[in-house]
Amino acid sequence: MTTTAQQFDISIVGGGMVGAAIAVALSQAGMRVALIEKQPPVAFDAASAPDLRVSSINLASEAWLTSLGAWQQLEKMRVCAYQRLQAFEQPGSIVTFNAADIKRSHLGHIVENNLLQLALWQQFNANVTTFCPLSVSALQQFADNTEITLDSGEALSAKLVIAADGANSKLRQLAGIGTNGWQYRQACLVALVNTPYPQQDVTWQQFTPTGPRAFLPLPDQQGSVVWYDDLVKVKQLAALNSKQLTQQLRKAFAAQLGEVEVVSSSWFPLARMDANRYYAGRVVLAGDAAHTINPLAGQGVNLGFADAKLLTELIIDAQRHNSDIGSEQLLQRYQRKRKPANLLMMSAMDGFYQVFGNDIAPLRTLRQLALNVAARSSLLKTLVARYAVGSE
Ligand SMILES: Cc1cc2nc3c(=O)[nH]c(=O)nc-3n(C[C@H](O)[C@H](O)[C@H](O)COP(=O)(O)OP(=O)(O)OC[C@H]3O[C@@H](n4cnc5c(N)ncnc54)[C@H](O)[C@@H]3O)c2cc1C
Repeated sequence: MTTTAQQFDISIVGGGMVGAAIAVALSQAGMRVALIEKQPPVAFDAASAPDLRVSSINLASEAWLTSLGAWQQLEKMRVCAYQRLQAFEQPGSIVTFNAADIKRSHLGHIVENNLLQLALWQQFNANVTTFCPLSVSALQQFADNTEITLDSGEALSAKLVIAADGANSKLRQLAGIGTNGWQYRQACLVALVNTPYPQQDVTWQQFTPTGPRAFLPLPDQQGSVVWYDDLVKVKQLAALNSKQLTQQLRKAFAAQLGEVEVVSSSWFPLARMDANRYYAGRVVLAGDAAHTINPLAGQGVNLGFADAKLLTELIIDAQRHNSDIGSEQLLQRYQRKRKPANLLMMSAMDGFYQVFGNDIAPLRTLRQLALNVAARSSLLKTLVARYAVGSE
């Protein structure tokens, strides 16, 4: 071990939404945390256009973020609650899931990723030391602790190192943890749009023969539009200027989108990735560093927060009992609970993608049947609404 290494209880590589939430939870429990992040979150400017990267946050994640104090910070900036979730093939046959069906005031919120990350960073107390903008360059594992070296040459020693550095996690590679998965045939174009209608309380998804199209409401007269299609088509759309893309969206989307105006846009490849294991020695993975999921039903960061919540609870509990916070037993418990839960959701999304993402005739029939059944069954609607909010 390097004699000059700075000592911490925990090091976290990656201060995105998941890594920052872990840092807040552990530091509030009195642990000394080192947080290494390549890029700090951008400051909030109420006059600025919303961030293009937005996420649908379910009630389970909202409750945990509220307990950390970060949700209250976020609400002071910008969030948009939605009360209804709609699915349809033809605008004439819409299935609506309502918050009221499960006696809730809302089903979830659409938030800007950058603002949620910022709200979490604003919760850092004196126990968090940030190393930013910096990356990790080396890892050495010992029996009782782990040491990482940063680009700056600084060495940090901790009982446990958490990889929350996203899908291409460098720390996961340094720890020698492999992955499996694939790139989906489809990609998606995301556009921030001005809408002709006042702020909306509904998020909807239309299933078309070439892939789903979705609308996520944002505050004021804005929203995020997502267009799933094959990679070639998505790249063609991404190459258009705002005026041309506006024309395409007005033509391709259901009439209820109205005469939108594109403010900004980008495209994203879609990948499924599952780490072969969630820990190696005293390095443990959380969030997208452990798994990436098709964003079709907006589950990715919600799964990441579920990882973060369980992992921090186990660590805090071990610390209270004066046990080793990086023990194999603890990390095994975490993996045993979270890996199957994440895999289940990934496979459910793949099934969903197969049934709703293509135009094979039997699947088209199955899809229509599913929507018809859902339209008539209040039990099914309640179950879908409960699933959407993240209830067990
Ligand atoms: C189009 C699209 C739509 C989506 N919509 C939703 C949705 O509606 N709901 C939902 O729940 N999820 C959604 N997701 C998924 C969601 O965006 C991810 O699950 C989430 O961003 C993962 O958070 P994370 O903190 O684990 O990783 P990331 O967001 O990738 O953050 C990783 C952090 O680590 C930092 N970092 C990376 N490498 C290093 C390094 N070497 N050293 C230091 N720092 C490093 C990065 O700068 C970053 O801040 C969507 C994804 C896509 C692509």
